[in-house]
Amino acid sequence: MLNTTSGLAFERERAVAIQAVRDAATLCRAVQRGVNLQAMDKKDRSPVTVADFGSQALVCRALEEAFPEDPVVAEEDSRELRQPAHAESLSKVLRFVTELRAGVDQESVCRWIDRGGAQGGGSERFWTLDPIDGTKGFLRGEQYAVALALIVGGRIEVAAMACPNLPAPDQDGSAGTGSLLVAVRGQGAELSPLDGPWSPTPIRVSERDDWGLVRFCESVESGHSAHDWSATVADRLGITTAPVRLDSQAKYAVVARGDADIYLRLPTKADYREKIWDHASGALILAEAGGTITDLDGRPLDFTLGRELAGNRGIVATNGPLHDRVVAALAETFRSA
Ligand code: AMP
Ligand code: MG
Repeated sequence: MLNTTSGLAFERERAVAIQAVRDAATLCRAVQRGVNLQAMDKKDRSPVTVADFGSQALVCRALEEAFPEDPVVAEEDSRELRQPAHAESLSKVLRFVTELRAGVDQESVCRWIDRGGAQGGGSERFWTLDPIDGTKGFLRGEQYAVALALIVGGRIEVAAMACPNLPAPDQDGSAGTGSLLVAVRGQGAELSPLDGPWSPTPIRVSERDDWGLVRFCESVESGHSAHDWSATVADRLGITTAPVRLDSQAKYAVVARGDADIYLRLPTKADYREKIWDHASGALILAEAGGTITDLDGRPLDFTLGRELAGNRGIVATNGPLHDRVVAALAETFRSA
């Protein structure tokens, strides 16, 4: 267990969150190794499902043990998994969970998963979890994240995010590397290699403000963020570098550590509302690394409205100095559309 003697705020929450996302990342990697992704039918999301459910079960169990009163707002529930047609998936989930926690049964796994069904919002203290953010990246063997955050009265206080395929800066990028990012409000953001002992270094956004050198990132999936709009905005800003496309909240991580300067998420559907578990963890990590996060109208993200960011549209996350100009360019682009 991590050292918990320094007396800093949310120290125990931070330690539990780090261990939980680490274990969940171990499970995700085991599923990726143990289930044949190549042989899978395109529509068959079973490895994803097994890893999503297993990751959520492990994290919710860790939270239940440490903070039994805390509700959890997480992406999955066990309704489908409990159907007789999915008995094989459930037994796989149990097998992978058992590799990390012995003496578990199917009913407990389903019960832990269903701890994620809280509504959140308001002045409550609650956790929010994306057990596998970037499902498509997970399937492609590219970027995905296990993203966990504690929200109290609408403020994100603690964030832990495991990015199993995001090489830590002091590693050579070979297989088996990953990054673990952690932040507590007011205490800065840190990154440690995911493998091996917890050995964090503080991370900081770039100071880049030369538009000719600025790099922006966005989703790989054009259905999740409008690539045509971001290209128009980039043009307007004088950005000449091609966008970096990656899945999951790893986008917040790369801006937080200064490898990119802007993360744009521009709605592809007028009525889509972002889910809180897709942003809470990454947003605190980036804010604590010195960055700025708003929606595309420049409004702060409102985490008091339940499972969705119902009061916001899209996401603009930057290193800070670039922020106002990006929001202005978005307004100009949409006005002239
Ligand atoms: P990304 O890895 O950036 O492609 O984002 C993955 C997340 O996109 C998933 O966790 C979904 O919750 C979310 N998502 C699904 N549909 C949409 C949509 N139409 N617009 C924006 N995000 C979406
Ligand atoms: Mg997600």
